[in-house]
Amino acid sequence: MIRVGLGEDLHRLVRGRRFLLGGVEFPSRRGELGHSDGDVLAHAVTDAILGAAGLGDMGAIFPPADAAWKDADSMILLRTAFERVKKSGWRLVNLDCVVSCEKPKLLPRRDLIRASLARTLELDPAAVFVKGKTGEGLGPIGKGRAVAARAVCLLEKS
Ligand SMILES: [Zn+2]
Repeated sequence: MIRVGLGEDLHRLVRGRRFLLGGVEFPSRRGELGHSDGDVLAHAVTDAILGAAGLGDMGAIFPPADAAWKDADSMILLRTAFERVKKSGWRLVNLDCVVSCEKPKLLPRRDLIRASLARTLELDPAAVFVKGKTGEGLGPIGKGRAVAARAVCLLEKS
């Protein structure tokens, strides 16, 4: 049996916060505002794997109202979700992602992000891909006020 999952997320970008994608920090004047560390890509991937397994979503498992998740490392949340997915008998086959932001440029650190996600999700880095897009100067993403991420994944159970 195979199943696909989709995750999507968006965070405001503000001064005084770190800019994180898949556990990799970028030099940036602005970073993601959020209850946790704000790692938008980690959140999209978490929702994708949880959704594919039919296990709920990030908001249900890590409620923002719960002080335990304040400034939480989103890669640890992703790992926690992945453990649940594995416990349900699923194996992750591959992951494909898109990050949309005006700055910083994703490309110089793309392979670091792939390696970071692959390590956390027990995948070969070749099974993880991340593409960078801009907002073409339009809307909150184009104006540098937000970053968005989308992720799709495939799960397999024998
Ligand atoms: Zn988020």
